Amino acid sequence: MRDIQMVDLKTQYLRLRHEIDPAIASVMESSAFIKGPDVRHFEEELQDYMGVKHVVTCANGTDALQLALMALGLKPGDEVITTNFTFIATVEVVALLGLKLVIVEPEPDSFNISVDAVRNAITPMTRAIVPVHLFGQCADMESIMELSAKHNLFVIEDAAQATGADYIFSDGSRKKAGTIGHIGTTSFFPSKNLGCYGDGGALYTNDDEIARKLRSISNHGMKVRYHHDDIGINSRLDTIQAAILRIKLRHLDQFNYSRIDVANRYDEAFAGCTGLSFPGRVSSSTHIFHQYTLKVKNGKRDQLKKHLESKNIPAMIYYPGPLHIQEAYKYLGYAEDAFPVTSALCNEVLSLPIHPDMEEDQLEFIIQNVLDFFKI
Ligand SMILES: *Cc1c(COP(=O)(O)O)cnc(C)c1O
Repeated sequence: MRDIQMVDLKTQYLRLRHEIDPAIASVMESSAFIKGPDVRHFEEELQDYMGVKHVVTCANGTDALQLALMALGLKPGDEVITTNFTFIATVEVVALLGLKLVIVEPEPDSFNISVDAVRNAITPMTRAIVPVHLFGQCADMESIMELSAKHNLFVIEDAAQATGADYIFSDGSRKKAGTIGHIGTTSFFPSKNLGCYGDGGALYTNDDEIARKLRSISNHGMKVRYHHDDIGINSRLDTIQAAILRIKLRHLDQFNYSRIDVANRYDEAFAGCTGLSFPGRVSSSTHIFHQYTLKVKNGKRDQLKKHLESKNIPAMIYYPGPLHIQEAYKYLGYAEDAFPVTSALCNEVLSLPIHPDMEEDQLEFIIQNVLDFFKI
């Protein structure tokens, strides 16, 4: 049996090598390393896939969030509401831009931002909501867009973990995660569902003026070379990464189906396991399982993690500490016990290996070892 990894990037590369190596070689030959033709082609292909008017690529998913907040013209002191249960990147750009970070609880089953908590956190200073489509499943966008319309708030979807997931509206219509709010952001970090071989990111919007602004500020605020209309940053997707992403995009749906197959097998295997609860699936979204995250009850999470590791099965805690108790964010002044849902999740969650190249013997080995732990 091959070694089990959380994400097996090497195996995936070996499978796609016959497509990827020539694409990289062709960028080398052209030596158009910055803003080469592959970048524009990738943006157009991703626009088609996402069903969105504009895709603007950038250097990484953290920059994408920063560019979104900058393009919307948010000013120091404006309040931005986001979830306490996410990767740090979601909140750090809010803080960096001097905006007032307001963090709220997630839902205990879907792990996504609680709409009731958002509603209760809205003040006259609130300017934006940043829902995160955590672990590959969309937040409750219909309710969030209603709040946005009612209170005149921007919505920036952090879709870094949900590239390819569909949000399903109550009338049955669908849109891709990241294309519903005013701006959506994503990351092409190698382990993401659509990942490149380095750093990369993108923004989605249907608004022409926002797209123009994003293109400008991601490239030194310039529309015409050496004429600077906006204060910008340098955040571009490398041509080599764009060439790799064009190939991987063609396989994305298949990759996501393979992840869903693994998740279904886990759900089935753990159905009788009272010490676990498996990831909640909501009817308003497909789930593309960026992570397969269990909740382990009765304080047994760390023991299960150790047990699996002793069998060379990696398992990860996403996320171990709530944001509000991190040293860097103590200035926000939240009480340590202010977020019981987040704190409970941080003590219970455990993510199992999931990726498109999982083999049958690996999957069976993982399942058997989880069941052995609970002596089933
Ligand atoms: C990965 C990730 C990001 C940041 O992406 P980078 O490309 O690593 O900067 C932001 N938000 C979430 C939820 C992520 O998972």
